[in-house]
Amino acid sequence: MDDPLLDVSNIEVIYNHVILVLKGVSLKVPKGGITALLGGNGAGKTTTLKAISALLHSERGEVTKGRVSYRGETVHNSDPADLVRKGVIQVMEGRHCFEHLTVEENLLTGFYTRKASKAEMNADLEKVYSYFPRLKERRKSQAGYTSGGEQQMCAIGRAMMAKPETILLDEPSMGLAPQLVEEIFGIVKELNEREGVTFLLAEQNTNVALRFAHYGYILESGRVVMDGPAAELRENPDVKEFYLGMS
Ligand code: ATP
Repeated sequence: MDDPLLDVSNIEVIYNHVILVLKGVSLKVPKGGITALLGGNGAGKTTTLKAISALLHSERGEVTKGRVSYRGETVHNSDPADLVRKGVIQVMEGRHCFEHLTVEENLLTGFYTRKASKAEMNADLEKVYSYFPRLKERRKSQAGYTSGGEQQMCAIGRAMMAKPETILLDEPSMGLAPQLVEEIFGIVKELNEREGVTFLLAEQNTNVALRFAHYGYILESGRVVMDGPAAELRENPDVKEFYLGMS
């Protein structure tokens, strides 16, 4: 691989000074790719994303070994806002829309980190609506009253309004019906192919993630136990048996 955009090198993460959760995780995210971070409940996927985006401090967690770099610069101990300025936006698990704001107001909160004109804002809003026509229909609705799928779309749309180079997407399938999961992953693929957005997505739903991602890493108990091109992982007998339920 050429120099990756995001390089996680052998990181260890400890919560509350004693709980060792990541035990030397390494992964590389190439520019323009969709990389999946897979694994069951508690494997360490969210912790890895938070280590990358410097969001562990608020949870009493810290990277005690290793390094996370973005375009060659160390980022894991930086100010989370610096990473946003570098073009990395995290969409948290559970979506985190502002429930009392309308869908459109939520989308606009993603824009305010940028120095751009109102015309650009409107153009970008229309672009988000072109990927998510459902959000346009619901733009005046209070986000808290929209469905789980619409809130997930809103969270990704808000990230798009920040014009990101990379989106860290945590468990986009969580709590959604299979058809909606397909729809959301389909849009992620389009954003990747047409807008050139790089994705690192954490997912328990190995089946769907390996159909849409280019490369996958499987985490178990804070360690990467396997990685490879998504097409190869899909054919791997252990992945089939333990993650795809096809033994
Ligand atoms: P899930 O899909 O359930 O979110 P995950 O793979 O994202 O799982 P993490 O949320 O990273 O896993 O959790 C990894 C381990 O770290 C778990 O054992 C969890 O209990 C522990 N953990 C997570 N956050 C904290 C915290 N703030 N303090 C202490 N332990 C934590």
